[in-house]
Amino acid sequence: MFRQALIAGGGIGGLAAALAASRAGWDVRLFERASAFSEVGAGVQLGPNVVKVLHGWGLADALQAVAAFPERLQVRSAVSGQLLGELPLGDTMAQRYGAPYLTIHRADLHGVLLHAVQQQADVKLHLSRPLQSFTQTAQAVTVQADDGPGIEGDALIGADGVWSTVRQELLGDGLPRRTGHLAYRALVRQSDLPEALRSRQVTAWLGPRMHVVQYPVRGGEWLNVVAIVQGEVAAEADLWDHSANAADLAAATSGCCAALREVLEAVEGWRLWVLHDRAPMQGAHQHAVGRVALLGDAAHPMRPYLAQGAGMAIEDAAELGRALAQALDPALDVPTMLQRYALNRWQRNARVQARALRNGQVFHADGVVRWGRDLAMKVLGEKLLDMPWLYAGGGS
Ligand SMILES: Cc1cc2nc3c(=O)[nH]c(=O)nc-3n(C[C@H](O)[C@H](O)[C@H](O)COP(=O)(O)OP(=O)(O)OC[C@H]3O[C@@H](n4cnc5c(N)ncnc54)[C@H](O)[C@@H]3O)c2cc1C
Repeated sequence: MFRQALIAGGGIGGLAAALAASRAGWDVRLFERASAFSEVGAGVQLGPNVVKVLHGWGLADALQAVAAFPERLQVRSAVSGQLLGELPLGDTMAQRYGAPYLTIHRADLHGVLLHAVQQQADVKLHLSRPLQSFTQTAQAVTVQADDGPGIEGDALIGADGVWSTVRQELLGDGLPRRTGHLAYRALVRQSDLPEALRSRQVTAWLGPRMHVVQYPVRGGEWLNVVAIVQGEVAAEADLWDHSANAADLAAATSGCCAALREVLEAVEGWRLWVLHDRAPMQGAHQHAVGRVALLGDAAHPMRPYLAQGAGMAIEDAAELGRALAQALDPALDVPTMLQRYALNRWQRNARVQARALRNGQVFHADGVVRWGRDLAMKVLGEKLLDMPWLYAGGGS
């Protein structure tokens, strides 16, 4: 028996949800607000917990062709440049957790998912169709995605990002909060960099009130650089991409070591994000109500300091797929399936949100706390950086 899932949002989370739902035997209609599927020019890191899900969907070869597979994660002091700690990635991670740690351009990850979704005959993708509202009854959910008649389905998945309309309608719990942190992002072609600045590993530079993360993408041809500083910009809260001012960044990172400043100065064009998040999830009721579920940033927008926001959206999608696969059991109704999804996901998402928050405090520590952080990192190194609870995956 076929059931119809309606999905709002065609980002990484929405496409992953479409793939998982159609693999579970559901018909899918996905509504994306933008006129074309696209992703910002920046990278993401994906831990083995996430890569394992993507491999399970048959995407290993597609990822192999576009991702980079760094050999190690190095943590350095942004002030002295000194190596504080190291975590082997590469084969070590693959053997330990059953899948590699990879770094990838967001457009490449989005493209891999879009291609996979387009191979599914039962998925219909609709562009320039923002979800405006929905209503649900005991029998169905109906969405309004343009001026025409409402579109009826059995379940609605809100994967419409940090400013989610579905969340506003479902929970009405206000807007996400400003974090007071700004992310400057850039991509640099490695061949344009002096030899000494080219890198095939993940490097995190920890400073007082700022940190920088760099890693290769596109098979190592490009270097992705993200600099997070504390500050505000005068702008509308929902305007999250600004033309960045390199001079502001240079001022915020003036106390950094020469090696890091050289990397930052090699960047020609920065783009700026004003980071928003929500407090960690407090219960399953924030993930699903009746026939409507939230997924990815719509459900649990987080600070990017554990590099797991997109990862949790993909893990959500995998769990959603497992829940929807129960549709074969005629005794189970859709709200019960979505409750299973919510119950299996909210605590892990809350834990990741909380850890990301804490990482931000540790990464930006100042004074005596910074001194303690650097010492702990030197003594414990890999023990602090490896996180079996996270990297082993969240499958139920
Ligand atoms: C600086 C930075 C670094 C990061 N690094 C990492 C990392 O290394 N690893 C990682 O896993 N994550 C990382 N993240 C987090 C990650 O980018 C997000 O968690 C992830 O993109 C969320 O995906 P999503 O599909 O839930 O939301 P989005 O990517 O925001 O997609 C939402 C989609 O919904 C559409 N939409 C919005 N409203 C509507 C509507 N009403 N109707 C229809 N469509 C709508 C939008 O156009 C968009 O296409 C980082 C984030 C930042 C800011």
